[in-house]
Amino acid sequence: MKIPVLPISYRDARLLFDVIGGDVAPVSWRGAMPVTYRIGGQNAVRIRLKVLFNWDLRPAYNVLAKLTGSEYPDQWIIRGNHHDAWVIGAHDPASGMVALLEQARATAVLTKSGWKPRRTIVFCAWDAEEPGLLGSTEWVEEHGSELDKNAVAYINTDGNSRGFLKTFEGSHSLQLMAVQATQDVTDPQTGVPISDRLRALLLIDSGDSPATEVSLRLEAPGCGSDYSPFIQHLGIASLNLGFSGEGTGGEYHTMFDTYDHYCRHLDPKFEYGIALTTLCGLVTLRLVEADLVPFDFEAQAATIKDYAIELEEVAGKMRETTARHNAWLEEGIYELVADPVDPKSPPEPKAAVPYLNFAPLNNAVDRLQAAANRYAKAQTRLLSGELTLSTSAMAELNQILFRSERTLIREKGLPGRPWFRHQLYAPGRYTGYSVKTLPGIREAIEERQWDEVDGQIEQAATHLEELAETINRATHLIAGN
Ligand SMILES: [Zn+2]
Repeated sequence: MKIPVLPISYRDARLLFDVIGGDVAPVSWRGAMPVTYRIGGQNAVRIRLKVLFNWDLRPAYNVLAKLTGSEYPDQWIIRGNHHDAWVIGAHDPASGMVALLEQARATAVLTKSGWKPRRTIVFCAWDAEEPGLLGSTEWVEEHGSELDKNAVAYINTDGNSRGFLKTFEGSHSLQLMAVQATQDVTDPQTGVPISDRLRALLLIDSGDSPATEVSLRLEAPGCGSDYSPFIQHLGIASLNLGFSGEGTGGEYHTMFDTYDHYCRHLDPKFEYGIALTTLCGLVTLRLVEADLVPFDFEAQAATIKDYAIELEEVAGKMRETTARHNAWLEEGIYELVADPVDPKSPPEPKAAVPYLNFAPLNNAVDRLQAAANRYAKAQTRLLSGELTLSTSAMAELNQILFRSERTLIREKGLPGRPWFRHQLYAPGRYTGYSVKTLPGIREAIEERQWDEVDGQIEQAATHLEELAETINRATHLIAGN
């Protein structure tokens, strides 16, 4: 289906709403404008829409700065934010961009004092993010083979404002390191670690059935900023970080996103700009300076297990509701509830949901968890000094660790979307920015493509087995057999 889409202003939309008649739209179809939403009536209204586009080709400029590492020049930590805006863009993207610039300035001060980074740092200011992540995507595609070999991790920010570390998403192999960093940065308003404040928010949000213990977890990365090409196209472990929740907005992507608005309503003291700089600086330096890049596979394996369990539950639930739906059809239940004055034909029957074979996925997840546990033990022995490695073995080990995320990339990509190649995370085919985890399997289930599901399960399992093998190689390198 190809339906053209055009964002329009409130004033233009209002004219269209005024002429749409018919039934009132169901609640879930309504937007936030102060009008009665209708779905269109018997009497068609013809509208002549004249749309003017500017098709000028314009160059886009990415600005990059590279500080070469003294020990591992071929291991890159990449830190990016976009610099283009729809209009003025004080919040989106400048508030994130200034945090990046401040981090770069602080890095330069360190360098002048004689410090040399062990790994290479690349600072990136992306252009043309708003029209479709163009700047970062072109750069990632252009430098694909170098990045595949050398990129350790990518750290992204975007608009930032007063509040909580609500944007806390990324690759779960980086979760342990990211959570530790949140414990070491102070929330400017309350003086407690930002992790404590975020945990408190999650507890309150858990509502009627509060979790007794809320542990911080990274959200799965979807789409919507420049981390997407790094994680979803190349399998570079990525983080996306940002504060929000207490700045009063409404200016997003409009001409009201001005410096004045930002200073009044979003982060009046720029304190959260400093907090974001500190957090990203800490994460970058830990990745740059660590003897062993801080990848942790236990959290990654546990998260994947949760995703697998959830998928089985989704399929089970669909099986139940489908069976019930078909039974109600046969019993004439839908006809009995139909309004005789306004009769509507009953819904169509649905194909029964077959029992699916999740065994390959579950077996692969088990192997992954075992590999992750073994690696954690070996890593502890190495970091405590009980075991030691030669310089060249350490270099090889680091390489295995940061390239582990690449095992989740499938050359051919996801069904119908060859550019999105990560087997764990992808923006949903129909969900805009928001993520689908284990997307190949999940979307086959959700779209009731039962013939596809087993193949997608096999495929994801193969990649998880490969990840487990890679982790085993790292363990072997540290501890032998
Ligand atoms: Zn942005």
